[in-house]
Amino acid sequence: MSTAAPVSLVTGANRGIGRETARQLAALGHTVLLCARRREDAERAVAVLAPAVPGRLLPRRLDVTDTEGVRALAVAVEAEFGRLDVLVNNAAVNYDTGRRAVSVDLDEVRSTLETNLLGAWRTAQAFLPLLRRSARPRLVNVSSESGSLAHMSGGTPAYGVSKAALNALTRKLADELRAERILVNAVCPGWVATDMGGPGGAPVERGAAGVVWAATLPDAGPTGGFFRDGEALDW
Ligand code: NAP
Repeated sequence: MSTAAPVSLVTGANRGIGRETARQLAALGHTVLLCARRREDAERAVAVLAPAVPGRLLPRRLDVTDTEGVRALAVAVEAEFGRLDVLVNNAAVNYDTGRRAVSVDLDEVRSTLETNLLGAWRTAQAFLPLLRRSARPRLVNVSSESGSLAHMSGGTPAYGVSKAALNALTRKLADELRAERILVNAVCPGWVATDMGGPGGAPVERGAAGVVWAATLPDAGPTGGFFRDGEALDW
């Protein structure tokens, strides 16, 4: 089915910042593919959110570590919509505050990179042909200031390195896609009170707003940047 409404896809959208990003995009009228590792989690989130937003929220199963699953969803989205306007790579794991780079188990680092870096990378590659068919393609990598080399310190080794690498990927993709007018940016949502962020952070509405800002940039908007609340951050 084709639609005039922007078609957006958010990974890891059954809870936390991803779920709120999906809600805010649907509140703007987007058709949102709300993705979760387990289909029932996506369906549960849609059931809660859909009644209060004008845009369509569609539950989809997507594990970003599953190459075949990612490709299969891209094929399904192509058949259903023929394009994708916004891709939000939000899914992430393992804010490893108790670990140190000098001693962390490298299997844990590897599995963190598999989701936080390669998950975003494979999803971007799979959906790029559909983004290319959009009139206003936007790609947002939900990152963290933990990945800023300018402020890099010890601790949270797997997570910090994964987000630094995600930031590097953002710049690679942005540069390679600049001529095609696909805007690619990294966004730090700030410290947000979610399962990952724990209590004490900002409400999800605030963290997701910065993601939605990058997902809805005007055509003259930036690409290859790193932002929080729409303000540039040091790499
Ligand atoms: P969260 O509450 O832990 O949610 C993470 C989401 O990612 C969940 O929906 C989870 O699904 C999903 N996910 C994990 N592995 C996945 C996979 N292989 N495939 C698909 N989905 C997967 O985290 P959050 O705080 O909302 O974080 C969202 C983003 O913001 C992340 O990129 C995070 O690094 C970033 N961030 C957060 C903060 C903060 O303070 N919260 C700060 C800076 C950056 P399941 O329910 O199936 O586990």
